[in-house]
Amino acid sequence: MKLYHLSSGPLKVNTYFLVNEKTGGAIVIDGGENYNLVRKTEEKYGFKIKAVLLTHAHFDHAGNAKKLQDDGAKIYVSVKDAPKLTNDDNLAADFGRKFDYCRADRTFSDGDELDIEGIKIKAIATPGHTDGSVTFLTGDMIFTGDTLFRESVGRTDFKTGDREELVRSVKKLFALPGDYRVFPGHDEFTTLSYERAHNGFIDYD
Ligand SMILES: [Zn+2]
Repeated sequence: MKLYHLSSGPLKVNTYFLVNEKTGGAIVIDGGENYNLVRKTEEKYGFKIKAVLLTHAHFDHAGNAKKLQDDGAKIYVSVKDAPKLTNDDNLAADFGRKFDYCRADRTFSDGDELDIEGIKIKAIATPGHTDGSVTFLTGDMIFTGDTLFRESVGRTDFKTGDREELVRSVKKLFALPGDYRVFPGHDEFTTLSYERAHNGFIDYD
């Protein structure tokens, strides 16, 4: 499996591509808003996007999901964030952005193991930024969306956000055994061991 990454837009949203090199099929984690950039990345590296996985359904992460779905990709989102793909809880209206409403092809809940294109990914419920936010775990990598950032955590002042839940969620990630490379929804990559030691937003012991 190979990982590619794209940062896009003023919010520096991270889009990740997990590619099965044997089949050429790829999973996108958080497509972002920019459809053309995702397509260019696909062409550049020669893979084919089969699925779009959303850490949560905010517009800046899910904005191009409908267009990718129209091209044949399946949309995967948590049960709790699925309704945000068809209502204003995706925050697009609040930020003056357009949003192409779409329906999930598949929803999942805490602990579900997804097997897409021969790539196994576990969904871990990490609510707090939204009530349906998840972290995806595969191999030695976790994709934390807007739950955990390098030396920071996600905002909880949006609709369906909850500070106490977010703290619990980050502690749940910190309690994972061993170390993981951490790929957040915005900004720089980090590791779980670094965040356990340096993330000032969560008291961890
Ligand atoms: Zn968000």
